[in-house]
Amino acid sequence: MDHLSNQNLKNITCISIETDNNHRQFSYFTIDELIILYQHSNVIERSLYELMTPVNQVKAYIDFEYYIDNNLDIKNSHIGPICLLKIFYFLLNFLDHNDQHNNDQIAHILQQFLILEASTSEKISYHFIHANPSILFENNITLGLFIKAVIHYSLLLITQHKCSSFQIDSISQKYTISDLLILLKPYVNTLRTCCIQCQLYIGYITIAEFSHLLVLDKQNQLTLAVDLNVYCKNQQFRLFDSVKLGKTNPLPQDEHYDHRKLSYTTV
Ligand SMILES: [Zn+2]
Repeated sequence: MDHLSNQNLKNITCISIETDNNHRQFSYFTIDELIILYQHSNVIERSLYELMTPVNQVKAYIDFEYYIDNNLDIKNSHIGPICLLKIFYFLLNFLDHNDQHNNDQIAHILQQFLILEASTSEKISYHFIHANPSILFENNITLGLFIKAVIHYSLLLITQHKCSSFQIDSISQKYTISDLLILLKPYVNTLRTCCIQCQLYIGYITIAEFSHLLVLDKQNQLTLAVDLNVYCKNQQFRLFDSVKLGKTNPLPQDEHYDHRKLSYTTV
């Protein structure tokens, strides 16, 4: 394959279109064709998903969600999403403790991240895309490993920290993410309410903030509000301002967002 056709391939996005009977039809679009499709269709007619394969470079993206009724202890639903944005802004820009956070921090974060909200009366749900990235990931799998490592490391730091409200004696040094969630479950409310001075990531966020990413699932098990299952080999993502077939909750777009950047991949 010559350079030109490689280049052309890079500018094409594979879109799956949800049709009746739970089927999906796959088509290839250039970004210009995709924009025309958006301009000539109504939101409720658009059931469009972007297909990502192991050969697609990807921008970082994170799905955040939890059920409201299972997590009534969370009084402020903004703490978790903002904490997540702060962590990934910090890590994806290779900041260190010299980069002091200031009042404009959220404004800086919003310049880089696209935020799509899909919350309903039952659940809080956001999709974050590092739309103006400083780094790209080789593919979806690599991104998933990075996200899991960040989560794992954060949970380990929380488990190991000691303060006047929290101290557990670690029995083993070998904890998986699931082990750490089981270990931390009895302490989640303490962490959220008492560890407001306990720092993570060189003072960038607090343990109290991070603990808003630890939520209960429908079976009342402690889990992460970050969906770690989306980083698999071939993953389809609903495009923004697009609906699940038969539903009327489009992923709304940020009004300041550049419409040319429709895609999760590097197109
Ligand atoms: Zn603490």
